[in-house]
Amino acid sequence: MVSGGAREFSSSTRKEALRDADGQVFDVAVVGAGINGSATANLLATSGIRTVLLDRRDFAYGTSSRSSKMIHGGLRYLQQGGRVMEVRRLLRERDYWLSSSGDVVRMRFDLLLTEHGWNRHMLAFGLFLYSLLDGRFEVPRVKDNTGEYPEAVRGYFTYWDAVTHDARLVIGHVCSAWQMGATCLNYVDILSISGSGPYTVRIRDSLDGQVAEFTCTCLVNASGPWAGDVARMAGVGLPVSLTLSRGGMHLVLTCPGGTLRNAVAFRSAIDGRQLFMVPRGGNTVILGTTEVKVESPDDLECSREEEMYLMDSASAVFPWVRQCGVVARYTGIRPLIGSHSDPGRASRDSSIVVTGNVVHVLGGKLTDHRVTARRAARAVSGGITGKRVSGSGPDIVYRRPAVADPVDWDRRYECAIFPEDIYVRREGGWFFYDPTVHRELAGGDAAGGGGTCYS
Ligand SMILES: Cc1cc2nc3c(=O)[nH]c(=O)nc-3n(C[C@H](O)[C@H](O)[C@H](O)COP(=O)(O)OP(=O)(O)OC[C@H]3O[C@@H](n4cnc5c(N)ncnc54)[C@H](O)[C@@H]3O)c2cc1C
Repeated sequence: MVSGGAREFSSSTRKEALRDADGQVFDVAVVGAGINGSATANLLATSGIRTVLLDRRDFAYGTSSRSSKMIHGGLRYLQQGGRVMEVRRLLRERDYWLSSSGDVVRMRFDLLLTEHGWNRHMLAFGLFLYSLLDGRFEVPRVKDNTGEYPEAVRGYFTYWDAVTHDARLVIGHVCSAWQMGATCLNYVDILSISGSGPYTVRIRDSLDGQVAEFTCTCLVNASGPWAGDVARMAGVGLPVSLTLSRGGMHLVLTCPGGTLRNAVAFRSAIDGRQLFMVPRGGNTVILGTTEVKVESPDDLECSREEEMYLMDSASAVFPWVRQCGVVARYTGIRPLIGSHSDPGRASRDSSIVVTGNVVHVLGGKLTDHRVTARRAARAVSGGITGKRVSGSGPDIVYRRPAVADPVDWDRRYECAIFPEDIYVRREGGWFFYDPTVHRELAGGDAAGGGGTCYS
């Protein structure tokens, strides 16, 4: 069924797609529907490459719904020499998404100077460089705090970046890939991968146990922090070592007296680490973040100590933070190539590693996922499928219209299966996700979990 140009993408078309996948020959199977996998599948499908996109949970279940939700050049990376080109590319990508996605919006950031703050000359230099890399020539000036911030703030610099809803970007790519003819399946377990290109992939619908088997010339391993597991399943292993860095705790606060008009960054009085608060509409603000090395991609727990650290650091600058309620805590994991004792200083650049007919997509940022997806799709098309990737995409061609019943739309045109899928893909994200309530609504413990920290 077609409505407003969208092709139906619901639990029943999913069921048909799964049935149809059985015995099919695909060019590429993309494993993992985070931002990297979904954007790669979108580009491949747009280029006429027969593509299947698989996720064992919902689309955007992984890090791509648990980020800090900034589309930015990474001003902080300029402190770490040698990352100038990375920042330039990120800024270009930020501008691209600002002009082409309604889900990316400009946001003013104020860098607060406090007793524990940055060296203002270094900061001014960094901002100046940032403006040059952004194609502007702006000499940054400190603004006096004339009452807009609490007393602890001695002054501030201002600059502009952007924010987004990460899971919505993913859904945009998944729905675009679907419209371009890709088979997109959430909630499927991969039972086995055999062969060495072509591969035979056996999958099972985790909702009703239906099994399907298809072949594909090439695999794209876009399973983010789970890349090692998927590589092992494909029988190739990862040719690089990974450090898993839990990009830390984000606290979602609702503040009775209102929050901030702009995003702010400041240094913790406790250890000098850079923290941020980003307003998310109404009285809601996200405060983040910590960063810890972990051993397992499923280690999404965060501790009371981390929460106290964030609350103490923020309330030292903004005493009203003590009056805010913590409505949610969430955290995400990034795979970093190599071993890093200080993950905060490691490059966020993505790497494309090819072993046999498997293309592993590792790391990267939400902001420059288009670049990552292009590199992955070219690795596939150049040497493996023999089919060329076209255009400069991936572009999000799917547009969600304003509709009277958004929940019905999510179910019929965006293949949301469980109530928590809808929560996570909306502005609420993991914020308002309560596993107990939503499991009951879903009639079992079928999905999700893992998103919230301790309760
Ligand atoms: C805390 C944190 C904050 C961040 N903030 C920002 C930010 O503000 N701005 C920015 O630009 N970037 C940010 N990033 C980086 C960005 O979020 C990541 O680069 C991006 O989300 C990675 O996407 P991905 O597609 O590689 O992985 P993921 O989003 O993790 O996707 C992997 C997918 O693979 C699936 N999967 C795993 N195993 C299997 C399997 N066996 N079979 C099928 N599917 C499987 C998972 O369910 C998941 O959906 C942040 C990262 C972290 C950790």
